[in-house]
Amino acid sequence: MGINGDNNRVAGRDYYELNAVLKLTPEQLRQVSIKPCARCEDRIVSSDATICNQCRSELETKAENERLQRYGVLILFVWGLLTTWLNAHPPGVSPQVFFALGAASVMIVVIGAVVWHGLRRSFNGS
Ligand SMILES: [Zn+2]
Repeated sequence: MGINGDNNRVAGRDYYELNAVLKLTPEQLRQVSIKPCARCEDRIVSSDATICNQCRSELETKAENERLQRYGVLILFVWGLLTTWLNAHPPGVSPQVFFALGAASVMIVVIGAVVWHGLRRSFNGS
């Protein structure tokens, strides 16, 4: 056992003395370096990403659910409006008419959303 560290064996294993200097360009260093995900801090991401794939898919699912909830609330709101409006006039709202109003409010909201997105695209696109 060399006292100055040459040819030492640690726990019976040979080890390599790394005399080579690791030379990486800043671009390569950026690609191999990792950091924790900014959202969950459980998983690691490469330096060009801020959040991991798991968190991104969670955020997408959350956004999709919120969008669906908005549609649901809108449909209920239009349904309530139509029912209130029709109920004020005789002969009132029968159960069949009530569910027909539900279907109508779904169509109103869907058509409104399509028109709204079409208008927004035509204003933003050109
Ligand atoms: Zn994450």
